[in-house]
Amino acid sequence: MIDLNASVVNVDQPPRSFGEKIYLGPIISGLTVTLRHFVRNFFGRKDVATIQYPEEKHEYSERLRGRHILITRDEGELRCVACFMCETACPADCIHIEAEEDPSAEVEWEKRPVVFEIDLLRCIFCGLCVDACPKEAIVMSRTHELAFARREEAIVGIDQLRQTGAMEDQDLGYRPYF
Ligand code: SF4
Ligand code: SF4
Repeated sequence: MIDLNASVVNVDQPPRSFGEKIYLGPIISGLTVTLRHFVRNFFGRKDVATIQYPEEKHEYSERLRGRHILITRDEGELRCVACFMCETACPADCIHIEAEEDPSAEVEWEKRPVVFEIDLLRCIFCGLCVDACPKEAIVMSRTHELAFARREEAIVGIDQLRQTGAMEDQDLGYRPYF
């Protein structure tokens, strides 16, 4: 129980110099650290963390979760069967799919997406859509340089997501079993 009548305990503070009272000491210490790093980086130490972006690029992990790719079959059709698993698994609720029956499918009632949109400004690049897909139809690329001038540009559809040509390993990021 808290004793509301307890008297206030005074703690003795060590005496502070004039410099400490006006925070001069910590400011000078901070500036010294900044100056030390500036001089070290300016004269070309090799172990600095910063790079001259965009001329220099970082080597990112092969498992980087960049912008999504919708994988196509050999005939060029999307592998996606519009099962909505990725849309259901997405924690950011940023995938929107509309399905239709695929007239070219050998299996009756097989579906394909007519609309497949991802809102990249809502996406948190968690990769759960990739994990959820039973057809390995959606993977992630290593494209991480995303910039949009308008909100609508961030909502990408089938045309922007569709795989273009043969995918090389260096284009691919996070994907099933990888
Ligand atoms: S990466 Fe995550 S947040 Fe982005 S679309 Fe896939 S499941 Fe949704
Ligand atoms: S989980 Fe795969 S097959 Fe199903 S809708 Fe998403 S991308 Fe298409």
